[in-house]
Amino acid sequence: MIPIIKPWLGDEEAEAAAAAVRSGWVAQGPRVAQFEAAFCEVTGAEHAIALSSCTTALHLALIGAGVGPGDGVLVPSLSFIATTNAVAYVGATPIFADVDAGTANLTVATLDAARTPACKAVIVAHQVGMPANVVAIRAWCDSHGLALIEDAACAIGSRLDDHMIGAHSDFVAFSFHPRKVLTTGEGGMLTVRDTEIATRLRQLRQHAMSVSATARHGAKGVVLPTFGEVGYNYRMTDIQAAIGLVQLSKLPAIVARRRALAARYQDALHDLESNQVIHLPRDPARGKSNYQTFVIRLLSGGRARRDEVLGVLKEAGIGAGPGIMAAHLEPAWADVTHVPLPATEAWSACSIALPLYHHMTDAEHATVVQELKRALV
Ligand SMILES: *Cc1c(COP(=O)(O)O)cnc(C)c1O
Repeated sequence: MIPIIKPWLGDEEAEAAAAAVRSGWVAQGPRVAQFEAAFCEVTGAEHAIALSSCTTALHLALIGAGVGPGDGVLVPSLSFIATTNAVAYVGATPIFADVDAGTANLTVATLDAARTPACKAVIVAHQVGMPANVVAIRAWCDSHGLALIEDAACAIGSRLDDHMIGAHSDFVAFSFHPRKVLTTGEGGMLTVRDTEIATRLRQLRQHAMSVSATARHGAKGVVLPTFGEVGYNYRMTDIQAAIGLVQLSKLPAIVARRRALAARYQDALHDLESNQVIHLPRDPARGKSNYQTFVIRLLSGGRARRDEVLGVLKEAGIGAGPGIMAAHLEPAWADVTHVPLPATEAWSACSIALPLYHHMTDAEHATVVQELKRALV
C-alpha cells in the first residue's frame, strides 16, 4: 500500500523524547520554551505559544482577538472542520465564505461577498499548505475594522513574498498532527504579534495561572499563583517539544523534498491538465506552497466520478483520499445560512489528495501517476 503521508520520524526524535523522559521533566518546561524560541526564529514571529493542538490555538487566537458571543467570524467552509468549530468555542457564529476555484483559498472578493454587519474577525486557512494572499486580506480586514487570524495548520514552511507564513499576522495557528508537515504526535503553536496579548494567552494556556510551573520551581521562596479569569489546560509536553525541535530542524529538507515531488506530479500530469481533465495545484503568484497535500480536482463527473476514481486507486493499493471537506455540508453546521458556495462545493465533491511523503520512491511516484491515468481514461 502506498500511503497518503508517512511522517519522517527517526532515531533522533526517539533519542530526544527519551532524553526528556530521563530528565524527569515531562510536562511543559524548558524544552517547550526552547521549541517556542526556535519556532520564532524559523517563522520570523514575535511570540510563539506551544499548545496541545491547532484547534486549541485557534480558540486562544479568537479570545486574543476579542471575539465573543454575538460576533460573526468569516471562515472558509472548505477547511477541516476545526476551523469552523473554534468559532463556536467563543460563542460566536461562523459566516461561510466561498474560495477561489484555483487556489482553494479565501480571497478579498469571496470575503466581500459574504461579509455581514455582525462580522468581527476573519479566519483565513492556507489550505493544504497553499499560501493565501494574507497581505491583501489584511488590508481588507483593516479597512473594515476586522481582526485577522490565520489557520496555518498545514502551512509551516510555506511562503508569501519573502516571508514564512507566521510572520504576517497578529495570530497564526499551526498543527503538529502526524497528517501535517511536522509532527509532535499531537500539538500546535500560536504565533502572536502583541506582547500583552501573548502574555495573557500564555496564562490562559495553563488555567490563567499568574505564575508558570517553571517560574515557581525556579523561585527561592514559596510562590502562590492567582487565577484572574477562567483558563484552560492547553499545554504541550516537554516530550512533544523535544520531538518538535528535531522536526523543526528538518523543515528545509522536508519542504524542498515535497516541492520536488509536487513538481514531478505537475510534469507527469500536465497532459491531463491541458486536456481539461483535472485541475493541478500550482504556486500562487506571490507564494510558495509546502505542498502539505497534493490535491487535484476532477473537472467533470462530479462526486460520483471522484468516488469511483478513489475506489480504483484503492484497489491498486494507493492510499489517495477525498481532498478537502466543506463544513456547511456536515450535519453539525447544516443550519447556518450562507451565501452560495459553488467553488467550495466543487472542491469538496471533486478533489483527490495524492500520496506525497519525504521517503516516497521514484517507483512509488510512478505507480501513483500510472494508476491515476488508468483510472481517468
Ligand atoms: C488539521 C487541521 C486543523 C486541526 O489541527 P489539530 O492540530 O489536529 O487540532 C485545523 N485547521 C486545518 C486547516 C487543518 O488542516
